[in-house]
Amino acid sequence: ALALGIAVIVAAAMALRVTTPLRRLTEASRALAEGQLGSRIPRADVRAGSSELAELAVQFNAMADQLEASVEMIRRDRDRSRDFLADVSHELRTPIAALLTFNELLTERAGDDPRARAEFLESSRVQLERLDWLAQNLLELSKLDSGLVLLDLRPDDLRTTVESAIEQAGPAARRRGVTLQLEQADAPIRIRHDPQRIGQVVTNLVGNAIKFTDPGGSVRVRVRPAADGDATIEVIDTGVGIEPAELPRIFDRFYRGSLANEARGSGSGLGLAIARSIVDIHRGTIEVESRLGVGTTFTVTLPADPRREAGPIAGTTSLEGAPKMVDSSPTAAPGLNRETPR
Ligand code: ADP
Repeated sequence: ALALGIAVIVAAAMALRVTTPLRRLTEASRALAEGQLGSRIPRADVRAGSSELAELAVQFNAMADQLEASVEMIRRDRDRSRDFLADVSHELRTPIAALLTFNELLTERAGDDPRARAEFLESSRVQLERLDWLAQNLLELSKLDSGLVLLDLRPDDLRTTVESAIEQAGPAARRRGVTLQLEQADAPIRIRHDPQRIGQVVTNLVGNAIKFTDPGGSVRVRVRPAADGDATIEVIDTGVGIEPAELPRIFDRFYRGSLANEARGSGSGLGLAIARSIVDIHRGTIEVESRLGVGTTFTVTLPADPRREAGPIAGTTSLEGAPKMVDSSPTAAPGLNRETPR
């Protein structure tokens, strides 16, 4: 009878050792299936079972951790898309509302007065141009974000790329009464880059520098080689500067600083977001330093060859990851990263 009693107790204890962790596993799985992503098997129960069961519980908890992190990432992405959509709608509403008003005025009273008609038609043209500009920028941003951009990497002289962007900005600087200077190294700076896109980065930075600098001020652009064959482009202005509290936000889409008043701010807060995306896919960095009333300096650092830089691209949210890169230079080694445009 004693032996039987001991056998029953031992058997019960052993059964409990197996069933308790299994019960916890079932409970946690059920909770997870019901959407409670934080549910895990308690540590004490993990250790209580046999080694196989403990291993299973550890694996279950690891899987639940990953699931929770993935869902959180998707949720953040969804929130960001929702905010972005709201911002886009808001940006589109302003020119559309203005166009509607002009249209109403033209069909009603002003239609017969040639002067008023010309004025409203001119204003409508400006609004339509703004809509077109917005659409183009949004398309560019979404392409950059989705990783669908095909970088046309060439081992060209970075000085030429910067020079042509500066030439384009010349008329705007003269109109505003701002001196625009280019300082560059004497020797060519050959780094693999997409000249058109890097040109756009410089255009956006120089455009801002001119816009936020008062007449009489200056904008200097410096192109220099850096360590390890990298290169830097600095855009230095003597403009209004940026509030320290605003600095972390200026690269956000649609963000416009408090000093970007109507007189200056014809932009939509997309210029820097695009610039950063382009620099990111070149695996470079973009930094800003600013002092209120003194000026602002943007520094872009580009690697000698983006294809050699390992690791994920900063700031990418896309699941596709790295952008496609194509080398269209005549000297490019055949077959290296060659892709046909999608
Ligand atoms: P926008 O098209 O409105 O200029 P950006 O994305 O290019 O948008 O810039 C975002 C904000 O960053 C601007 O509204 C402005 O407040 C600030 N900013 C950018 N560049 C400068 C600069 N050189 N000097 C002062 N403020 C700047």
